Formats: sequence, structure tokens, C-alpha cells
Amino acid sequence: MRRLLICLLALAAMIAPMMILRHCQTRETLSVPLLYRIVAIDPGHGGVDPGALGHNGMHEKAIVLNIALKLRSLLQSSGAIVVMTRDTDTDLSEASLGNQYSRRKRQDLERRVELIDNSGAELLVSIHVNSIASGRWAGGQAFYSPGSDQGKLLAQSLQSALKEVLKNTNRQAATGDYYIMRESQTLASLVEVGFISNPQEGRLLAQDDYQNKVAWAIYVGILKHFAAQPSGS
Ligand SMILES: [Zn+2]
Repeated sequence: MRRLLICLLALAAMIAPMMILRHCQTRETLSVPLLYRIVAIDPGHGGVDPGALGHNGMHEKAIVLNIALKLRSLLQSSGAIVVMTRDTDTDLSEASLGNQYSRRKRQDLERRVELIDNSGAELLVSIHVNSIASGRWAGGQAFYSPGSDQGKLLAQSLQSALKEVLKNTNRQAATGDYYIMRESQTLASLVEVGFISNPQEGRLLAQDDYQNKVAWAIYVGILKHFAAQPSGS
């Protein structure tokens, strides 16, 4: 009986990548590749750190938290165990540091890394929103630490899902030097889900429907990663 169950699970893992593409259209969650997998989600910024500010007055910290909470629901409905660095509008620094913002930022990031590395998570997705002076750049992009082969595979899975689901970016997964990926021992990708500095994309990022799509894209990317590597290697 146990052998039969293992065979069924192995079969399901093999066919999962094909099913993922089909399920991209229907938005039904899949359970087998994610069952009991521990996933860390890091919504960037929060509390005293608002992150980037959009034309519509919406802060990065609010957008990425909304997306992270939606992503948590999708993962949990597939049987994954989700660890969040925050699930409210807060940061992890000591409030007693008051307006010493650079010290608070440093402490916040250090505590996020500690929390993630002590959680037993197999992978980390840190969610951010991009912003630059020019309003013409758009598109979501997944980053990985230079030299991390597994990080590159994870970022590529996330990037291909962003392309398939959002249908508005031809960007490629790229290396990025971000503290949370550099300092954490956990396999990680940081996803800049779009440019808040682009008027059209900034408007989309503030919409609940679009945030659902972004969460779905990241969910599909994580699913693809686990389906491709069912042993958790
Ligand atoms: Zn950010």
C-alpha cells in the first residue's frame, strides 16, 4: 500500500509540470508538489519603512503585503507550510530606536534573515516593487544571488511564470546584490513585481485583481520549481 502511494506521488510529480500550464488558465491550486513544503515569504519594507511611493499615493509596503497575503493563501491551500517575515504593516526593528532609520533598516533586515534561516524554509521569495526616476520602464523581474545555481533555477521558474501569467514582460531572471539573498543561507529569489514608477503599471499594481494575478504568478513559479525538483534538493 505504501509502495503504491509512493508510486502515485512520483507519477503526480512527473505530470505536474504539464498540469501547471493547464492550471495557469483555470487558477485551481495543485497540491502534490507543495504538500508539507516550507516556504518563506518576505514582503519587503513595512512599518516605518514605506519603500517606494507610487503616483497614486500607494506605498510599496502595502502593495507587497497584499500580494504576499494572497500568495500565502494559495500556498496554504496546496498544503504548504508558509513562514512570513511580516503579515501586518510592521517592520522587525526595535521601536525604541525611534527615528534612527538606517539602524532600524539594518536591524529589520538582520532579523528577517534570522527568522527565515531558523524557520526550516526550503526557499524564500522576497517581494518588492521596483521604482526608478524614468516612468518608461515596466515589467516584473526575478533576481538571484550571483553564483547561486539553485537560486538561478528558482528565479528562472518565477520569471517564466511572470511572463506566462502577466503577459506584460519579456524580462529575464537576473543576478542582483540584495542583502536578504546575500546574507540568508536559504535558497532565495527576490521578485520585483513591477515598476511603481511606470504610470500604467503603478495603477495596475494598486488594483486587487492585478495583485491576485501577481500572487498567482509567483505561486505558479514556486510550484514549477518544486515540481522540477521534487526531492527538495
Ligand atoms: Zn523594495
